[in-house]
Amino acid sequence: MSGSSPTIENFPKPKFITGGCLCGSIKYRADFPEDHDFLHQSRSCQCTQCRRGTGCLFYVAHTVPLGNFTYLTPTTTLKNFYATPGIQRGFCSNCGSFLYWRHESRDEIAMAVGTVDPEFLSDFGFALANTAGDNVWCENEIKGVTDGMIGKERGIKWATDSKGVRM
Ligand SMILES: [Zn+2]
Ligand SMILES: [Zn+2]
Repeated sequence: MSGSSPTIENFPKPKFITGGCLCGSIKYRADFPEDHDFLHQSRSCQCTQCRRGTGCLFYVAHTVPLGNFTYLTPTTTLKNFYATPGIQRGFCSNCGSFLYWRHESRDEIAMAVGTVDPEFLSDFGFALANTAGDNVWCENEIKGVTDGMIGKERGIKWATDSKGVRM
């Protein structure tokens, strides 16, 4: 994107995005509802499960209604891992890409923003990854590394999960 940097007050919003895994076996599309809240639906997690699952110090998620998320390919290599009962961590069994987190009792899916196609990330990365929603498990922050990255000036920073103690 050219021009000024996006801010919380003013940033470009996509109508849809596409994404996929590293080997290309799984591609998906998310269409955003008319009234989609790009700030509240952008979250992060620094729990040990998300760290191990993604291989990254924090997981940047963007949540959409389940009905707005569709696959553009067969899902023969898609597998769910359950680190916690009832919580799916979707990944490609061919290349290992972590694609989403999903609570089975909720009609929504938290896409792993790192798997969004680069042309959408370059234009709409702020809309997807602003982390102005809940930022959980901040008690696991790595001092001097992840503690300056999220939840400082925007979003809600939780010590544990969003039902736990607020920092
Ligand atoms: Zn793959
Ligand atoms: Zn987590």
